[in-house]
Amino acid sequence: MAKTQADPFIGTTVAGRFLIEERLGEGGMSVVYRARQEHVERPVAVKVLRPDRAQDEAASAQFLREARAVSQLTSPHTVTLIDVGTLEAGGWFLVMELLEGRTLRSLLDDGPIATDRAVRIADQIALALGEAHQRGIVHRDLKPLNVFLAHTPGHAQTVKVLDFGLATLSKDLSEASVGGTPRYMAPEAIAGNAVGARADVYALGLLLYEMLTGRHPFEGLRGDGLLDAHLSTPPPPLPATAALSPPLRQLIEQCLAKHPRLRPRDGAEFRERLRRAQGLPDDMPDESDVDRSLRETSPGHDTRATLPSTLSLAHLRARLQPERRGRMRWGAAAAAIAAGLWLWQRTSDPPLVAQPFVPPPPSLLDTSELPSEASSPSAAPREPAVDVLFHTIPDGAILRIDGHERGRTPQSISLPKGRVAKVELMLPGHVSRTLDLLPTENTRIRHVFVVAGTKPDPVNAKVDRYLD
Ligand code: ADP
Ligand code: MG
Repeated sequence: MAKTQADPFIGTTVAGRFLIEERLGEGGMSVVYRARQEHVERPVAVKVLRPDRAQDEAASAQFLREARAVSQLTSPHTVTLIDVGTLEAGGWFLVMELLEGRTLRSLLDDGPIATDRAVRIADQIALALGEAHQRGIVHRDLKPLNVFLAHTPGHAQTVKVLDFGLATLSKDLSEASVGGTPRYMAPEAIAGNAVGARADVYALGLLLYEMLTGRHPFEGLRGDGLLDAHLSTPPPPLPATAALSPPLRQLIEQCLAKHPRLRPRDGAEFRERLRRAQGLPDDMPDESDVDRSLRETSPGHDTRATLPSTLSLAHLRARLQPERRGRMRWGAAAAAIAAGLWLWQRTSDPPLVAQPFVPPPPSLLDTSELPSEASSPSAAPREPAVDVLFHTIPDGAILRIDGHERGRTPQSISLPKGRVAKVELMLPGHVSRTLDLLPTENTRIRHVFVVAGTKPDPVNAKVDRYLD
């Protein structure tokens, strides 16, 4: 962010009509300029790839994804896209409405934010996300730098969500794509599992936590320590002050749940809960109408996991399991399994869980109020049994249930609903695994075996436990 010497871009005209005037900001991938649209003399923001990324095909593809995603969104809390095109020198540019104001990052740098204001900001972010989620778009990189507090003359401050740069429509995703910032990355993204709307809800929970306390819950942690904390450390409890009502504290805690299914399902549900927690009336009839339609049509928000732009998938996995990388081929195995789960899910009737994701650990399965996407009226109990798909890495493990051998993994077994089953998974040369499972709905269990006699590194051990 050094003061620009002479930026050769300044003074040039993009697409014959956007005169570049001044550099406004930059992110990991791009530089944003203030520009003037000729003929109408409208000030706009022009975003281009950083020169060092201009030749990078993945970066260009990401840029185009952003354009596609944002062009579908009409929320007043999502930055408006005006135009898209290619530069003469090559590479894409985006033209957006010009925002005046500051980022949430800069506001947070001033310290904690009063509850009312923090709630208003979160509410508006949730509106932007709610619309995106309803369209099957997941932001994936929600963080204070991507939330802009815009001043519009004659209006109260308006929150605008920026940078749908990692947003992806489910069909666009590949393992090679990039995504996320470790500070705001959901556990399932770190673990390499499917990432959906609930990953954005996790990030939103972090933002709200940070706004209210002035601190990120894992403040001061970096690298593996930070990833580890996202995976397994409960955030420090929020202070029980008068301004922080129990329902608000509970909502934030739920957003920060390690297991995605324990979080509000999307921006719309988050917003509904937030407004209820604060006893807020629906003061924006238009927007609450939008919300209701979101809830009615909301599909499963399922997309493949991607990883941070600065850390490739391989890189991150290598960090998570330095010793076992070569042997486990974990990423490939997980991808194959995800594909298998996907198939399984597609063919099962009804499709049960939007995300090819692991069920909660047994302790969580015991909580009967686990939100279920499968509880549609058509899923009324025909018989008190549920299907549980057992997968292991590697597969081929002996599966024993209540002392009886039931074949080898992968294996789908019908189990009595609501009755604890003792599950044993055994694979020669590996540490066996037993768990008490309380099946409440069709689900799947994935276990990553540890080779006997090895000491898993602590981070990886937590990943495995999480995946159990
Ligand atoms: P990146 O994809 O590289 O992270 P962003 O879209 O987040 O890029 O933009 C980088 C920075 O540029 C933002 O943090 C913000 O300060 C500034 N910026 C982005 N869009 C606008 C806009 N429409 N109006 C004004 N400033 C903007
Ligand atoms: Mg950004």
